[in-house]
Amino acid sequence: MLTLIPLPAFEDNYIWVWHDERHAVAVDPGDPAPLIAFLDAHGLTLTAILITHHHRDHTGGNVRLRQRYDCIIYAPDNPRIPAVSRVLRGGDSVDIDGPALHFDVLATPGHTLDHISYVGHGSLFCGDTVFGCGSGKLFEGTPAMMAASLDAILALPDATRVCCAHEYTLSNIDFAKTIDGGNRALLERERTDRASRARNAPTLPSTLGLEKATNPFLRFHEPAMTAFASRFLNRPNPAPDEVLGAIRAAKDAWDG
Ligand code: ZN
Ligand code: FE
Repeated sequence: MLTLIPLPAFEDNYIWVWHDERHAVAVDPGDPAPLIAFLDAHGLTLTAILITHHHRDHTGGNVRLRQRYDCIIYAPDNPRIPAVSRVLRGGDSVDIDGPALHFDVLATPGHTLDHISYVGHGSLFCGDTVFGCGSGKLFEGTPAMMAASLDAILALPDATRVCCAHEYTLSNIDFAKTIDGGNRALLERERTDRASRARNAPTLPSTLGLEKATNPFLRFHEPAMTAFASRFLNRPNPAPDEVLGAIRAAKDAWDG
């Protein structure tokens, strides 16, 4: 049987772990300590690591984990990522024997230029591209680049589990309400997710259907977000990537 769990790391990261009771695969283990503790406690061996992008809070465990487990490390093409075994690009796929897993790789640049996401087993591992009710800052890419990445994610089935790398959902909801306050699904989500955090449970995985209904960064084709962007930019009929850029700019200003 395959199990998927989010392991908390650092302040607000999640390391997603698949295991079959013998072998495990981890996504973005930026901190090796909680992962090693989990693997030891459950008698698991780490066979592979999937990396989404070069930031240290995602790649910081690579060297120690590869030394300890001799695992295969899959990652995008970037020399800043240490200890990589196999370089991946959008359109590639990953096959792992134990646990038996297959993922398709999506190029999802925007947060960084190297960012990739993994799709398989009804789940999306999107690193810092999509968060619960939010999206990663554009450190390296442009709004148009991120819009294309989000369009690729929007094409996945609504039932897809969205497995993000950070627990930012509640503050993202606070921001979303400032630009999409009339959205009933968003207010509903706030109740559910506040209750989850109150008992220290993750708000993730969410579903892509829920993100489409509540996440302003996945709603940049919706009339409500176009209307927001038109007010924000003070001109009519912004294009979809300009709508996304306006949402990003508003969120960055809100973050301060
Ligand atoms: Zn990042
Ligand atoms: Fe991160």
